[in-house]
Amino acid sequence: MAKKEQKEKKHIPVVNKKSLAFFERYINNAAPTGFEAEGQKLWLDYIRPYIDEHYVDNYGTAVGIINPKAKYKVVIEAHADEISWFVNYITSDGLIYVIRNGGSDHMIAPSKRVNIHTDKGIVKAVFGWPAIHTRSGEKEETPKVKNIFLDCGCTSKDEVEALGIHVGCVITYEDEFMVLNDRYYVGRALDNRAGGFMIAEVARLLHENKKKLPFGLYIVNSVQEEIGLRGAEMIAEYIQPNVAIVTDVTHDTSTPMISKVSEGDLSCGKGPVVTYAPAVQNNLNRLIIKTAEDNKIPFQRSASSRSTGTDTDAFAYSNAGVPSALISLPLRYMHTTVEMVHKEDVDNVIHLIYNALLNIKDGHDFRYIQ
Ligand SMILES: [Zn+2]
Repeated sequence: MAKKEQKEKKHIPVVNKKSLAFFERYINNAAPTGFEAEGQKLWLDYIRPYIDEHYVDNYGTAVGIINPKAKYKVVIEAHADEISWFVNYITSDGLIYVIRNGGSDHMIAPSKRVNIHTDKGIVKAVFGWPAIHTRSGEKEETPKVKNIFLDCGCTSKDEVEALGIHVGCVITYEDEFMVLNDRYYVGRALDNRAGGFMIAEVARLLHENKKKLPFGLYIVNSVQEEIGLRGAEMIAEYIQPNVAIVTDVTHDTSTPMISKVSEGDLSCGKGPVVTYAPAVQNNLNRLIIKTAEDNKIPFQRSASSRSTGTDTDAFAYSNAGVPSALISLPLRYMHTTVEMVHKEDVDNVIHLIYNALLNIKDGHDFRYIQ
């Protein structure tokens, strides 16, 4: 690569010390689907200086609003909830069986330490698993929802209940935020609190750069995505936006045992991912791609058959059709406790959303045929 070009493509960091401290706090706080309120408070506290007003709906979706009086409304959105487990059955011996709340992965459960969220606070437990010695000679059982179980150190159901645990308590893993090789953010539930973080950073940049938008900007942190885009469905009806740009995570397919033939060819560190799908409005997608090209922001392309499986679908198919697009953050090891995203990709998703907003006009008409 020529020297001049190298200089042009130099990475511009966005995340600073203060915002990184917020990101860490935000990731370490648990926000299971249906129980997101504490995380939403942290998020609102962070964006409050950068918005004019905020709105919170009955199920906890939080919205920061800039120019609330404007008629033309643009949404930037991420989802706030993380996958978890529910206490489903407590045995007379004091062990606990679970069911999923979202797409929690049974394969990674054995030997993990967990937090059971009760009205009396956090109760610790572990996912037990029979010792290798006791399994010899038999066909190996793999972890499944019906055979994984929690041990909270009790020997009876009464003891478990005395700790405050009951059917319906939610369970999250202990694992917390870390930075790996000064290159990756690692943690539980970067899917998709990285998204909530990035849209908050867009609000910060608009404020710090004193950008005046000609439309109303709705910075939306939706609940209940992991069980079917429910929070986005609710808030789309309330806001009735004219445009929606959604950000969520997508799979880095460069690690072992993932088929590029079926999953596409995407890598952490190569930039935000734009998606082609029927729910993605092509003229809005073109605006985003041109924004990336004009600003020399690297990007990757992905295709989805039928739905995108993200809140993009919820916005697109609401209110008689809202032009919607998806900007994804590549992520390794989705729905494990060691989800990884590249620092530069995080900055570049923020840059891309920010600059795309600057290219949207008041009353912007995205229709294919005018
Ligand atoms: Zn997810």
